[in-house]
Amino acid sequence: MDKTEKLKQIKEEVVNLKRSPLYSQRIKNGVFPVIGEGSHDAKVMFIGEAPGAREAATGRPFCGSAGKVLDWCLEKSGIEREEVYITNILKDRPPKNRDPLPEEIEVYSPFLDRQIRIISPEIIVCLGRFSSEYILSKFGLEKELAPISTLRGRVFTAKTDYGNIKIIPMLHPAVGVYNPSKKDSLVGDFAVVKNNLSLA
Ligand code: URA
Repeated sequence: MDKTEKLKQIKEEVVNLKRSPLYSQRIKNGVFPVIGEGSHDAKVMFIGEAPGAREAATGRPFCGSAGKVLDWCLEKSGIEREEVYITNILKDRPPKNRDPLPEEIEVYSPFLDRQIRIISPEIIVCLGRFSSEYILSKFGLEKELAPISTLRGRVFTAKTDYGNIKIIPMLHPAVGVYNPSKKDSLVGDFAVVKNNLSLA
């Protein structure tokens, strides 16, 4: 199976994920799971938390207000959205955009793990606290866990079965929606990604 077929397989499994605690909500609301989008050969993979209302309505990650901030930061730092891959830990929207529950992370994270293996990015950017905690722990860096305000913009190195990768935690772009003065520090973190992308 090539990358595209493997990713399609993930989509089919998530579409039919009846054992997910969020499945019945999705069906009741007539919305979509959000699997991910972007280049299947991306060097950098952005991992957010969970779809919001706009994302669930369209099936596309980061296409609502947080997505606008993300797009603005990408543009400012000279990274093309089409050249990266964007996904979330949870593939379905939690009611009222509440924080993901541990049992939801448990259900959806194996799909994220498979996406990481398929794309095999050189850099993983963790958008926000939940993504940073999950990814740092997954790659054996739990001793580095700290508040996102401490982690953001730092570059961690992790070993994977396809080679060493860099992990860069950052603030969630949604902070720029509620607090526009934070947009500059967000762009600063994106510059770290851009610099490391050139080195990769
Ligand atoms: N917030 C996220 O974490 N992911 C999205 O796709 C949209 C908003």
